[in-house]
Amino acid sequence: MGGGGKRLVKQRERLWKKNPHCENCGIETILPKHCPRGKKGRIIAQDHMATIQHKYSRLHPDKRRTMILDHENDRRHFLWCYKCNRLDNDAELAAIAAEFWKNINERNGNLETNI
Ligand SMILES: [Zn+2]
Repeated sequence: MGGGGKRLVKQRERLWKKNPHCENCGIETILPKHCPRGKKGRIIAQDHMATIQHKYSRLHPDKRRTMILDHENDRRHFLWCYKCNRLDNDAELAAIAAEFWKNINERNGNLETNI
């Protein structure tokens, strides 16, 4: 049996056929198989390429709940364009980094107050 990757590809196609628009910014997306290919046939990701956005992120404490369930009112996956997906991941990592440094600074006391 194939791994989760194959399942996600199917999930993405299913969502895309239902509605090819990014659920975040509304742009019409294309499937990876429609993207141009580079050397060795590798897909060149486009900003409007369809990606799967998890309702629970990889970094969420409930990440083990990122299972595929597509009930009408409790979906776990959403079709987002590559650009939104990437920006969202960046924002999430930035938030985690900010929290990390805040904790470090608090632990170190207020030695550096006015940075
Ligand atoms: Zn988008």
